[in-house]
Amino acid sequence: MMDDRELHQHLIGQQGSRAALNTPVLVLDLDRLDRNIAAMQAKASEKGVALRPHAKTHKSVDIAQRQIAAGAVGVCCAKIGEAEVMIDGGVAGVLITSPVAAPAAIVRLAKLALRADGLMATVDDPQIARSIDDVLARSDAMLDVVIDVDPGIRRTGVASPEAAVELARTIADCERLRLRGLQFYCGAQQHIEEFPARRTAIEERTQYLRSVVGALCDAGFPPEIVTGSGTGTHAIDLALGTFTELQTGSYVFMDAQYLDCDLDGSGEVPFETSLAVDARVVSANHSALVTIDSGFKSLSTDGGSPRVTRGASPDTVFAFMGDEHGALVGPEIGSRLRSGDLVSLVVPHCDPTVNLYDNYHVVRGETLVDIWPVSARGRAR
Ligand code: PLP
Ligand code: MN
Repeated sequence: MMDDRELHQHLIGQQGSRAALNTPVLVLDLDRLDRNIAAMQAKASEKGVALRPHAKTHKSVDIAQRQIAAGAVGVCCAKIGEAEVMIDGGVAGVLITSPVAAPAAIVRLAKLALRADGLMATVDDPQIARSIDDVLARSDAMLDVVIDVDPGIRRTGVASPEAAVELARTIADCERLRLRGLQFYCGAQQHIEEFPARRTAIEERTQYLRSVVGALCDAGFPPEIVTGSGTGTHAIDLALGTFTELQTGSYVFMDAQYLDCDLDGSGEVPFETSLAVDARVVSANHSALVTIDSGFKSLSTDGGSPRVTRGASPDTVFAFMGDEHGALVGPEIGSRLRSGDLVSLVVPHCDPTVNLYDNYHVVRGETLVDIWPVSARGRAR
């Protein structure tokens, strides 16, 4: 009996074309992916900065391993469940970027600390730091931590330099925690579309970051690791030189939201769109509208509409029609596209779209070359 993966491979051998895939399907262009991985690594390495890419974007052990092979020091994970999957897949150097608070999550964190190579977690609360330390004491494990510093979004992180110092003191008191540094993720600035406005905002936030670093140094806790940044601000952060490592995520795929941002001020797009949802026309009975088989269940809905590439003319507009369907609207589209025709969509926001699929269908050009699981799909806790 062939297992699922072998059966897929067997079928690929017989009908390995992208056009033959059932739809909607998450398609990943391998050469573009590899060029993006190499490009971000080169930008960081050139500045002597480490890269620990965020795996919340792709949730894939295969992609994490390619990033590490290209020079990354590990990967970031948003949640314990994601970290467990990466570590089970043999990935070392995992940093969990969201504070954990649930008692059950703390127990799982302690279990991971026993077996994971180079694991780090973030904390933003002295009480939780103590709880983690108590649980670790039962198992004899040690855990490296970084202090999460709120850059002003009020999502997670300590809210002042004084609070960072207080937490550092608490961590120093905890026998099983080792303080390694701090995290500072400017989520609100990543998608500022104009480069000068994004740079001004990050320069201002970097001044604040430096004040927190200064306060920790003065109190005797100089941070060895200063981690943060994202695809939107990587060029600015590398130029400012405050981070020792970057945790960029979306650059591997380049979704429609990021295509709207001038990432490095050059007006050129420094990464390639490697991810698509391929969909099919399933009904074409009107002159200005055809219906495709992709709706809320196959595309994230928080980032506007996908862009239609293959199968469309520049004036084609996508509109969500419901759970399973979308409309492509444009003059005479019903005579250009027929039922069964393939279209490709650039996804609005990559991370939540990927989380809707079991697999990546990996292509080189028009040929299907592999199928990779979205290994940490649904691992939200
Ligand atoms: N770090 C943290 C804490 C994040 O939440 C995210 C994404 O939301 C990233 C890094 C990666 O950012 P991006 O996908 O913009 O590269
Ligand atoms: Mn995102």
